[in-house]
Amino acid sequence: MTKPSLIKLEQFNGLKLKSYCTSLKKINKLSIINELPDIVGIKPRLVLGHGSNIFFLSTKKKPLSSLVLLNQLKGIEKIEEKNKKIFIRCYAGENWNDFVSWTLNRSIGGLENLTLIPGSVGAAPVQNIGAYGVEICNRISSINAWDFKLKKTVHIKAKDCLFGYRNSIFKQQMLEEGWQNTRYLILYVDFKLWPEKNSPLITSYSGINEALDGQPTPKKISKIVKKIRTHKLPDLSKLPNIGSFFQNPTIQSSLAKKLKKKFPTIPEFEKTSCSSKLSAAWLIEKANFKGYRIGDAGIYDKHSLIVVNHGKACTYDVMKLTKKIQKTIFIKYGIWLIPEPNIISSYEKIAYSLMNPMSQIYTQRG
Ligand SMILES: Cc1cc2nc3c(=O)[nH]c(=O)nc-3n(C[C@H](O)[C@H](O)[C@H](O)COP(=O)(O)OP(=O)(O)OC[C@H]3O[C@@H](n4cnc5c(N)ncnc54)[C@H](O)[C@@H]3O)c2cc1C
Repeated sequence: MTKPSLIKLEQFNGLKLKSYCTSLKKINKLSIINELPDIVGIKPRLVLGHGSNIFFLSTKKKPLSSLVLLNQLKGIEKIEEKNKKIFIRCYAGENWNDFVSWTLNRSIGGLENLTLIPGSVGAAPVQNIGAYGVEICNRISSINAWDFKLKKTVHIKAKDCLFGYRNSIFKQQMLEEGWQNTRYLILYVDFKLWPEKNSPLITSYSGINEALDGQPTPKKISKIVKKIRTHKLPDLSKLPNIGSFFQNPTIQSSLAKKLKKKFPTIPEFEKTSCSSKLSAAWLIEKANFKGYRIGDAGIYDKHSLIVVNHGKACTYDVMKLTKKIQKTIFIKYGIWLIPEPNIISSYEKIAYSLMNPMSQIYTQRG
């Protein structure tokens, strides 16, 4: 039997890990959608944007056998202007930050707080990207996607996307049925934005108001957000990363009470009578992991939630580092930190062990 050829995924993942698949199709023209019925039956399949929210666990020895659909659809167009709103269509393969700049350069407001979020436009609704008091769900009017289940393109209104905090119908479907069974390939997103003078400006978030000089405008806000983010977050081109590696844990209030007694400065937020949310960054920092390294995989020295690749980190280094953090936090606080990025793995057991505290600790070399 001939071995399938290997396709490198290094340039398609934020951590720039050496990852491989055996089959990849670029979607760079809408006409390719007509071919989708032919590949509709192919499973497993993965829809890939820029890979800035994906942790690939797929080595040369065990590449992803799934069909990878690389979304590279380009184009931005104004659809209409009415009732003091501007409707813009943006294709899924556009770079998110370039699209934000495109709107600002045309005096269109609404996306300024989301400046410099890495990734593609098509992936943005999947986790309902948000920053500095704005979530993309409040700027979308509808989404056009290929539906692998219905075998046709569908038009989904924003209200039917079931947007929630870092969640949507698209992400939920993947979580429930597995990324191998992804149902939707987002083709383009229609945004409802505003002429600069009618734009609702959100400046209340810490850091923005203080830095504003005179009347706020979308361009001024974007500039401030850019400055804050550049200062706080690693430059992707110098220190590859996939943003926050762990989710902020929600714990039962009984455990929160116990921890507060032992660690009085522990920050709690979104407190209810039964649960509290804690800061994963705080837990990791207090466990002395800021700047910590295993091989070339490390925790960023300015932000303890970010795992970075200092040069030649391999999947094994990242696994070893993140497992060590999870185990230490579990022993110290009784909390298992769940990874935030999508784990796309050809090692099912290892992926499972990252999500579950009771599973055996796998650190096998790939
Ligand atoms: C330094 C850094 C900072 C970040 N800051 C923020 C932040 O402030 N706020 C925030 O919300 N996020 C943030 N993120 C996360 C990331 O930017 C977003 O998740 C982004 O939307 C990922 O885009 P992508 O194209 O790289 O998606 P990918 O990583 O390629 O994919 C992410 C998910 O979306 C799916 N997907 C991708 N394209 C499509 C499509 N066309 N149709 C259907 N499904 C698709 C994939 O299957 C996968 O499940 C940050 C990441 C980094 C590295």
